[in-house]
Amino acid sequence: MIANAALQEVQADIAKACKIARREVDEVTLIAISKTHQADAIVPLLDAGQRVFGENRVQEAQGKWPALKERYDGIELHLVGQLQSNKADDAVALFDAIHSLDRPSLVKGLAKAMDKAGRRIPCFVQVNIGAEEQKGGCAIADVPGLLEQARGADIPLAGLMCVPPFGIEPAPFFALLDKMARDNGLDGRSMGMSGDYETAIMLGATHIRVGTALFGERG
Ligand SMILES: *Cc1c(COP(=O)(O)O)cnc(C)c1O
Repeated sequence: MIANAALQEVQADIAKACKIARREVDEVTLIAISKTHQADAIVPLLDAGQRVFGENRVQEAQGKWPALKERYDGIELHLVGQLQSNKADDAVALFDAIHSLDRPSLVKGLAKAMDKAGRRIPCFVQVNIGAEEQKGGCAIADVPGLLEQARGADIPLAGLMCVPPFGIEPAPFFALLDKMARDNGLDGRSMGMSGDYETAIMLGATHIRVGTALFGERG
């Protein structure tokens, strides 16, 4: 395997945070968020052994990942961006996990798409953890109902996901998501990005979504 400096640095930081939190490194999955980056930026990470990647747009992912999946075995692709119900079929065909299940109509759309494809992929319910008006995600009060609906539709539930409000301390929001996951009997906590993944790990993150720290600033 070829060394990749940015990846090694992030992995070292993950290990450090896990040690402080008395967690095992294999409890935390690093999702390399490759949105806006082309194959030539992604290939070095694949060559270094990274296999879990995330994208935020179905169409963009369709343009670059099928070819990379032919070249590399074991790629796991996560959708971390808002999903329109009319793209559910495409999303279920390409992705291995979805982090943006946030409304009843999408539960229906995804259940139908999974039935049609004969393939059920794990989903995280995205929570609007800071109750921000303009932000995606299910309102905190509506989460139990949405989870129940998803269970009824036979959608495999991986856990909860959040993007805390920008520019303020994220720790209280991570702690709240952790508590909500526990209260609802869910294992997965998709939280933490380039600026705060160590904090997220200390507060129970199982999936961290890191773009800039691996690929540099987006253009
Ligand atoms: C872009 C994005 C990330 C990665 O953000 P960075 O700050 O570049 O690490 C994580 N999660 C979601 C939902 C994103 O859209």
